[in-house]
Amino acid sequence: MEFDFSWLLWGLPIAFALGWLASRLDLRQLRLENRRAPKAYFRGLNFLLNEQQDQAIDAFIEAVRNDPDTSELHFALGNLFRRRGEYERAVRVHEHLLSRGDLSAKDRHRAQHALALDFLKAGLLDRAEDALRKLEGTEHEAQALLALLAIYERTRDWAQAGEAARKLTAGGHGDFSGRLAHYLCEQAAGAGDDAGEAEARVREALRISPGAARPGLALASLRMRAGDAAGAFEVLTTLADTAPQSLGLIAGPLAEAARASGQAPRALRVLSAAQEARPSLDVLEALVALETDPQRVRELQVKHLEREPSLVVAAQWIAAEKLEHEQFHPLVQRALNQAVKPLTRYRCAACGFEANRHFWQCPGCQAWDSYPARRVEEL
Ligand SMILES: [Zn+2]
Repeated sequence: MEFDFSWLLWGLPIAFALGWLASRLDLRQLRLENRRAPKAYFRGLNFLLNEQQDQAIDAFIEAVRNDPDTSELHFALGNLFRRRGEYERAVRVHEHLLSRGDLSAKDRHRAQHALALDFLKAGLLDRAEDALRKLEGTEHEAQALLALLAIYERTRDWAQAGEAARKLTAGGHGDFSGRLAHYLCEQAAGAGDDAGEAEARVREALRISPGAARPGLALASLRMRAGDAAGAFEVLTTLADTAPQSLGLIAGPLAEAARASGQAPRALRVLSAAQEARPSLDVLEALVALETDPQRVRELQVKHLEREPSLVVAAQWIAAEKLEHEQFHPLVQRALNQAVKPLTRYRCAACGFEANRHFWQCPGCQAWDSYPARRVEEL
C-alpha cells in the first residue's frame, strides 16, 4: 500500500512542539509528558511503518489524549484516511475527536462536519444525514444543508429536500425557488390518485417560480385529466407567453387541449406565429396535428425546409411523397427513419447525455433544467 509518510514525519513533531511551547510551562509536567507522549508517538509511527494502521491510530490517540493542542493532528489523520478511501478509520479518528471533552465548540463542529463527510463518502446516507443535521446553527450550516439536499434528491425524499431548500433560501445562501418548484412538482407526480393534493402542490410551485415551464405543464395535464380541456388550454396559452423557451414542450399539449376544447383555430394562430418567429420541430408537429387538410400539412413541411435544412422534416415529407420506383420506397424510408432517430433526441447541455424524452433532472449528471426544450437536430 502507498502511504505518504513525509508529512507525518514533519507534521507530528511540529504539532507536538507547538503544543508544548504554547501550554506546557510547568516543567514538572513537561518532563512527565516528554517521557510519555513521544514514546506513544514513536510507537504509532512504528506501527504505521509496519502498515499496522489500526494499532497506529490507537497509539496516536494515546499520544494526544490529554493534549487539546494536537487536535490538528487528528484532523489531518482523519482527512488522510478519508482521502485514501479508508472510511472506517476516518470515522474512528473523528469520533474520537468528538468524544474528547476538552475540544472547543469550533473544533467540535469541524469534527462533526468531517464525520459527516466520512459517512457521505462511504455512502452511508442515513448516518451522514444524522451527522449533517447536527450542524444546523454552526458555521458549516450552508455546506451541511447543500449536502442534505443532495441526499434527499438521491433518495427522492422531496418533502425533506423542499425543507432544506427553504432553509438555504432563508439563510441567504442563494435562490432555490426553481429547485423548490421541481420538488413540489415531483411531490404532485407522486400524489397518485389524490388529484386535489397534486393540484395544490403544482399551484404552489407555479406561485413560487412563475417563469418555470414545469408547474404550468403539470397543471395543464392535471386539468386535462379532470376533463377540463378549456382550463388546460388557458394555462398553456399563458405559459407559451411566460416561458417561450419551453415552447417545444408546450406545443404538443397545447394542440391536444385545443382539439379537446374546440379551440383549434386559436391554437393554430398561436403556434403559427411561434413557428414564423423561430421554426421548431415540436411546434411543426403540433401544427400538423391540428391541421385537417393534408395539402396544408405538406406546405407547412416545405416552409420549414425552406428555413431549416432539417433531415427530420425531409424524411417526414418524403414519407408521404409518391416516388417513381415505388417498390423501393419502404427500404429508403426505413433507412431515413433510422438516420433521423438520433436527431429527435434531447441532449443534456451539462453532460451531453441523450434521451428519447425530455428530463427536468438529467439522469446522467443530476443537473436540473439542463435539457433544452429542443431536439438534437435543432441545437
Ligand atoms: Zn446531464
